[in-house]
Amino acid sequence: SAKSAGANAVEKYVARDHSREIGLFHMEAELRRAIEREELTLAYQPLVSLETGRIVGVEALSRWHNPERGFVSPGDYIPIAEESGLIVPLGRAALRHACERLAYWRKTIKAASDMHIAVNVSGVQLKRDDIVATVHDALSNAGLPGSALKIELTESAIVSDPERVREVFHRLKALGCKIAMDDFGTGYSSLAYLQTFPIDVLKIDQSFIAGMLDSEDSQNIIDAILSLSRALHMTTVAEGIETELQMRAIRAAGCDIGQGYYFARPLSEPDLIAKLGQSS
Ligand code: C2E
Ligand code: MG
Ligand code: MG
Ligand code: MG
Repeated sequence: SAKSAGANAVEKYVARDHSREIGLFHMEAELRRAIEREELTLAYQPLVSLETGRIVGVEALSRWHNPERGFVSPGDYIPIAEESGLIVPLGRAALRHACERLAYWRKTIKAASDMHIAVNVSGVQLKRDDIVATVHDALSNAGLPGSALKIELTESAIVSDPERVREVFHRLKALGCKIAMDDFGTGYSSLAYLQTFPIDVLKIDQSFIAGMLDSEDSQNIIDAILSLSRALHMTTVAEGIETELQMRAIRAAGCDIGQGYYFARPLSEPDLIAKLGQSS
């Protein structure tokens, strides 16, 4: 009957919701274990000069392969890591590993001798970790100058405690590091406001690149971001370039650096080394 079908639906709904909760709870426990066992790795996505076509840097992206779940997307576990505080040990390990690998490539691969690495840092790390000490340790452990490291943060990371964040940015800059604003254009802060922070790089969010050939609005937003960032002496990166047409359009608009599947997907270390070999 309709009534029992309805009751069934409710029961199913409750059961499903419950299992989702258990799933998330398990994921946190599994993530904790994976961090302890050092099961997380990094993938490296090339950042390409739109002027020369050369790889000028890579972005380090966290990767987790779980024995039972298979590949888990960072979009799923980074929020859990942020809520649980696990982002602090995860982020420390990522910074340390990224710096170690870059130092090794700089020494052993000609095309990598002045490459940089960009590492994502969460707002939670700014709050809960002494991020300046963590960055300093990662650099000195690898024997790298601060100028080799770019710290990528999103707008949401700076809005909750701007005074403290401004001070942290200045201390990171004193180490020689560059600061990049990630996914720019998706938050609410204006460039005029961002200008009050020592930001070196603006990464235009991939949604604008995806829309630029079809939508005049996206194209206008990109042009506005590029002219303002030029006036503020910031380097610009376009995220999510997937086609040659997009690459040509964003290069013609005057953007400095491109990133996206058109150039390369996030790569394992051996694949990155092979790619660097081709580009030298
Ligand atoms: P993000 O920092 O904005 O990284 C760029 C994302 O876009 C990556 O997703 C990358 O794989 C994807 N991408 C690159 N090129 C293309 C393209 O041409 N088309 C499309 N559709 N996507 C492209 P991924 O690796 O899944 O990472 C998602 C997000 O997770 C990152 O966004 C970042 O916010 C976060 N994340 C990843 N690793 C870390 C980490 O070590 N620490 C922290 N705090 N966050 C991380
Ligand atoms: Mg990023
Ligand atoms: Mg991004
Ligand atoms: Mg993103």
